Amino acid sequence: MPKQTPHHQVLLLGGTAEARVIADNLARRDDVSAVLSLAGVLSQPPELALPLRIGGFGGVEGLVQYIQDHGITTVIDATHPYAAQMSAHAVAACDQTGARRLSLWRPPWQAEPLDDWTDFEDWHALMATIPNGARVFLAAGQDGMNALPVPPDFTVIARALARPKNLPEGVTLIKALPGKTPQEEVAIFQEYRISHLICKNSGGDSSRAKLLAARGLKLPVLMIKRPLSSPPPLYDTPDLLLAAL
Ligand code: NAP
Repeated sequence: MPKQTPHHQVLLLGGTAEARVIADNLARRDDVSAVLSLAGVLSQPPELALPLRIGGFGGVEGLVQYIQDHGITTVIDATHPYAAQMSAHAVAACDQTGARRLSLWRPPWQAEPLDDWTDFEDWHALMATIPNGARVFLAAGQDGMNALPVPPDFTVIARALARPKNLPEGVTLIKALPGKTPQEEVAIFQEYRISHLICKNSGGDSSRAKLLAARGLKLPVLMIKRPLSSPPPLYDTPDLLLAAL
């Protein structure tokens, strides 16, 4: 009798560029049926090759229910390195249901000698070090926005893809993707006379140009530390993760 290939019923937790790569690959495999799940942060989700579900599951309990109702055999966690809650829920729900979990772990950026980076355990400590009159570029999503002192005694220029739910008064919003090249980022930092960059240590290439720009302009970079990663198995790249599947 010919050996039967196992069929994977995959729930792909997305929200990253890598998740899109994984989605494209899964859509081409005939040993996989997969659905991509997004939190629903963006009003217009990107067009992707997989069926899509949008919105939270309702905690660990809701995720367990989803896994059981849809016969999910494998959960791929390709959420952002700072999406700690979703990742923790995936770990717990897979433990409870016996579904297999494969987690993407994007390596953090590493400072080089000309960089002036400071890591902070929490947002409060980070905001407290910003001097009066500074002009900060905030590239840290809604978390960073929520952590701003009210009112800040420094100027804030924030960049986000979508208008944040709570945009504090007085914050200048640049609704845009991160610049692709350090030159683009230098131009923005110079236009707004930026003195400090606040960001997360997200890793990857798509938002790295701002750090190269900060290095060139000798700007201090204030970073909020990464949350702890999920337990293994962790894969650095979509290719490694897909090979494991
Ligand atoms: P989070 O704090 O870890 O998750 C908060 C809640 O949002 C989760 O408990 C879950 O709700 C829901 N959720 C998150 N990701 C989901 C997904 N892929 N599918 C369905 N529900 C999801 O996440 P976050 O930091 O708010 O990030 C939200 C999304 O944006 C994530 O998908 C992440 O990959 C992406 N993202 C985050 C960042 C960042 O800096 N945090 C940056 C870029 C992209 P329930 O508990 O109801 O299930």
